[in-house]
Amino acid sequence: MAAAISGRTRLAGIVGHPLDHTLSPAMHNAAYEAMGVDWVYVPLEVASEGDIFRFVGALKALPFVGVNVTMPYKQAALQLCDEVATFAQMAGAVNTIHVSDGRLIGYNTDGRGLLESLESEAGFVPGGRRVVVYGAGGAAGAAAVAFVLGKAESVVVVNRTREKAEALVGRVAMCAGTTEVLGVCSDEECAEKAVRAADLVVNATSVGMSPEDPPLFPVEWLRPDALLCDMVYRSGPTSLVERARAAGVTALDGLGMLVAQGATAIDIWGEGDTVRAPRDVMRAAAEAVLRERAGEGS
Ligand code: NAP
Repeated sequence: MAAAISGRTRLAGIVGHPLDHTLSPAMHNAAYEAMGVDWVYVPLEVASEGDIFRFVGALKALPFVGVNVTMPYKQAALQLCDEVATFAQMAGAVNTIHVSDGRLIGYNTDGRGLLESLESEAGFVPGGRRVVVYGAGGAAGAAAVAFVLGKAESVVVVNRTREKAEALVGRVAMCAGTTEVLGVCSDEECAEKAVRAADLVVNATSVGMSPEDPPLFPVEWLRPDALLCDMVYRSGPTSLVERARAAGVTALDGLGMLVAQGATAIDIWGEGDTVRAPRDVMRAAAEAVLRERAGEGS
């Protein structure tokens, strides 16, 4: 049984539009119950960017510990925070806001969530490895920064809109450290060459969110020993993950990353004085919702 809501209960939530399919309330509320914290997590659908500004005022006035931010406001959230962590600035997106002493501190937990998922689910660490990231939005930015900070040998960003990929790589180049190659592809020939050489390929585009979406690229391009990570999560595998697995390639969906980025947000909001957010509880809650939805669809 969840704790009763009282005058001391603090709020958390997810801001975005649309939020019909979000798994975050189920994951977070299950975690709060397991941790015994008096917080409640609610979906906060904000339909227009103009309303986001009013929402931020409310965040400071109400008893929020923080909020997660999702599409389409991750980039706007960068401007709305009083302070933004360096990682989020480089990624070009904020997905977690912490309300601390009346100030809004912006973070991006997608990169940490992705690395945690890759390591815990597939034993993959980026140091010295060749990585391809499809997409150039907020999620791709977080991934590219995480791989460069994780000392990947090369990071190639593949995106249909070349200018966006170039802008992303331009931001990431500031922290390129030991990463020898930071590349951009927007045509098929270049993408094929990069994928054939890659140890890890990440889909950070929205392709695959609809069950009708075709695979983002031919899985024959993947090396048999490569790892594929599709950030998309839904009740069944995407066609990309399904075909990669059929071809014998290890392929992860985005659920592990979703759980880890949400758990990292709780760790931030807890300011170190709560136990580490229980990943297993959060994953079980998310999987239960996905199973329920799959049942409804059948
Ligand atoms: P975003 O900022 O809107 O970026 C979307 C990206 O997808 C852009 O690079 C866009 O390319 C590309 N794209 C869209 N339709 C495409 C198509 N038909 N063909 C090729 N490329 C296409 O979104 P985001 O926030 O980065 O999220 C991207 C994906 O990651 C979503 O599926 C989201 O659910 C997932 N995600 C998962 C997690 C997780 O925890 N598992 C976390 C964050 C995001 P252009 O630049 O050319 O428009």
